[in-house]
Formats: sequence, structure tokens, C-alpha cells
Amino acid sequence: MTSASDIPALPEHLYVHVPLCRTKCAYCDFFSVAEADLPLCVDALTGALVGQTLAWAQRGLALRPLQTLYIGGGTPTMLGPALAGLVDALATHIGVATGAEVTVEAKPDSLDDALVALLAEAGVTRVSLGVQSFHDDVLRTLGRAHDATRAIAAARSVRKWNLDLSIDLMCGIPGQSMGSWLASVEHAIATGAGHVSVYPLSLESGTPLAAEVLLGRFAEPDPDIAADMMIAAGEILAAAGFERYEVANYAKPGAQSRHNTAYWTGKEYLGAGPGAHGMLSATTARASGFVVPESAARVRYAIACELERGLQSVPRVEVETLTAEEAAREDVMLGLRLTRGVDVVLVEGARVGGVLEHFVGTGLVERADDRWRLTERGWLLGNEVFGDVWAGE
Ligand code: SF4
Repeated sequence: MTSASDIPALPEHLYVHVPLCRTKCAYCDFFSVAEADLPLCVDALTGALVGQTLAWAQRGLALRPLQTLYIGGGTPTMLGPALAGLVDALATHIGVATGAEVTVEAKPDSLDDALVALLAEAGVTRVSLGVQSFHDDVLRTLGRAHDATRAIAAARSVRKWNLDLSIDLMCGIPGQSMGSWLASVEHAIATGAGHVSVYPLSLESGTPLAAEVLLGRFAEPDPDIAADMMIAAGEILAAAGFERYEVANYAKPGAQSRHNTAYWTGKEYLGAGPGAHGMLSATTARASGFVVPESAARVRYAIACELERGLQSVPRVEVETLTAEEAAREDVMLGLRLTRGVDVVLVEGARVGGVLEHFVGTGLVERADDRWRLTERGWLLGNEVFGDVWAGE
């Protein structure tokens, strides 16, 4: 006989994807659809997201309150007041633990004082604001739908309602000078944000910006310049009391993203909405109806983005299974993104000690006491290390 305690519980971390943006940015290859191309009724979209999340959550798993909820996109704030309704419905039907971190991603062009007030009332604790730059010329190159004035106003609203604020910034953009970049970092600090993410532009083929570069209208991004910009940003953020805790993420004490840290430390999470990803242990996955081979220890899934089939249709799910050794290698790879690195026991279990020793020789990895971590140079060339760890010995 099966008792309630034998039933695997719902992951404590939930990601919900809102695949809608005002317009597509020039560099974007994330899954999102411009508003004009998808004239969806907001209520139908939020209803479908709640329905899909509940369907996932209730597929044989015991409900338990969420420790983190992250509504990302796309541009969740495009939902307007319905976004507060979405948070409220998820909290009511699934449950959110006391003290949980509830984040929504926001773009400055769709966030104002009234919406922040509604979000705060619905239980949102944190806003991740996609600013990218506080300079209008750089924002125009990126094809962003906001300007610097709007970004500053949106950040002020978040702080006014006492929500935690994270700001995303991007460097290595064609035409962006070091001075403009560093001024953007200073602006981000001045908003009172407790968390800042800094990323180099990644030029993805097929995007309008990549086409502009091919046509010679913009210079190709230079990775060395982007690396210098990342280093200079780190120095300014450190001087302002931010601590780097992940390759691209800096936080004041206590302001690290708990949701993203769950990703980097191998915690199970549920993903819902077109384009979302989730990660479950094989046991949890079996309990929720996945057919999983005996050899599997971990299941990663992606919800296919077939919006044209209608949000109410049963989503197509792409599944990848990992053996215990592959899951351990993945944990090492993700854990190395963190400044605290990974424990030697995990590295031994994943059988990648030899791979890391090799990178000690090239100066990208170091071992201190019982932990392996990336060096300063390793931060810049992390993908080289991650790729070899994933490949194994
Ligand atoms: S706001 Fe984000 S998801 Fe939307 S188009 Fe721009 S980069 Fe892509």
C-alpha cells in the first residue's frame, strides 16, 4: 500500500514562461513572440499558464509550498495587471512558503508604478529588470523598446514599493564605449539594486543584429573588449559592496537569486508555459507520468513552443534523460559557475578530477582545500571548462 509520504513531492522551485514581448529585440534568439504577431487575449494566456502549471503540478505529485517562483520570458510585465492575477492564482492553487522568493522579469517599457503596486500586493518580492544599458544610442542598437529615462523610472518604482531589484546589463555591444558601459554600471548601482547581472552580447546567427554585422553596418563584437568590460564592471561593483557569486551575477549580502542558485546546485524545478524547461529526478518524473528508462537518474524536459496550435492544446514535451554519472557531471559543470565552486566529493563522484587537473595546468581552475573553483581567467573562458567537464574523462 502507498502512503502519502511515499509520493514524491512537487519541486520547491517553479519557473513559468510568458512568451510575449512588445517587439523583438535585434539580438534576441530566446523564445518569445512579438505582440503584433500573436494577438492573444491576456486572460486566455494567463488562464492557460495557470492551467498548464496545475496540470504539471498535480500529475501524481504531493503538493508542497514553493520556496521560489520565477515568472520569466519574454516579457511577463506585458500581461499588465493580469500578471498579479497569475502570481495570485499560482500562490492560491499551489502554495508559496512563508519567506519565499517570488521574482518577475520586467522590461522598463511595460512596468509602471501602478503595476509594481499590484505585484507587491500579490506577493512578488523581487523584480528582475532587463535594462541592458542606460544609454539611448546603445539601446537603439539593441532594438530595445525602452529608453534610459523609462529604465530609471521603472527601477524607482520597484524600490518605492520596497521590492528587491535586480538589473541586467549587457556589454560588448557594437558602438558601446568603455565609458558608456561603466556609466551604465554606475547607474545600475545608483538605482539601489541589490543584484546586478552583467553579460557580454552573444551574436546569434539569424538575428537582425547579426545580419547588420554581416552587412558591415556594425563592427563584429570583440570578445577581448567584452572581457575587459566584464572585468572593469566587476571592480566597480566590488567597490560598491557587491559580491560576485556566479560567472555573471553580483549581489549585496543576502540578495543572491535563490531561484537561479537552485538551478546551479542541481535542485529539481518545475517549468510551465510554452518554451519553459524543467528538471526532475527520475523518481519524481516517473511519479508525474514520464516514461523513463531504468538507467536514468535525472530528467530534463522542454515544453515545445507550438503556440500556433493554441495554448489550450496539450503541450508537446521534449525529454532528455541523464544517467547518475551524467547528472553528477552536470552538477560539477553548473557548480563551477559559482564562486564557491564544487566539493571534491562531487568531483570524485562525477569522475572528472583529471579534467579539472588539466585546467589547473592551463590556469583556468584551482583547488583550495576541499573545493574546486574557476580562477579569474577561468571566469572568462568558463565555456571551455564546462564543455570538457560535460564530455567527461
Ligand atoms: S525583451 Fe528579452 S525576450 Fe523579449 S525580444 Fe527582447 S531580448 Fe528577447
